[in-house]
Amino acid sequence: MNESSPSKSPPKSENKLFTLKKWNAVAMWAWDVECDTCAICRVHLMEACLRCQSDSKAEDCVVVWGECNHSFHNCCMSLWVKQNNRCPLCQQDWTVQRIGQ
Ligand SMILES: [Zn+2]
Ligand SMILES: [Zn+2]
Ligand SMILES: [Zn+2]
Repeated sequence: MNESSPSKSPPKSENKLFTLKKWNAVAMWAWDVECDTCAICRVHLMEACLRCQSDSKAEDCVVVWGECNHSFHNCCMSLWVKQNNRCPLCQQDWTVQRIGQ
């Protein structure tokens, strides 16, 4: 009995190349909400900021828009720019585009 089984089984030593799975991490920015919320005091822009609410001068609380199209309470922003003259959301230089209700 001459068992000549042509077992062609080359040693599979070839490691699988690292398959880098690209994480299609579509960053669902929760920050989108910030368009309507003051990022400084976290109060909705349709309402007065915390400071004005507690001082009962909500009518004086206006919204300010920057060149970057981010908006904040004017009083929050005027305090903020004393520390840091940049937009708290996008870090661009803060330039007032308009102020209004
Ligand atoms: Zn605010
Ligand atoms: Zn205010
Ligand atoms: Zn901005």
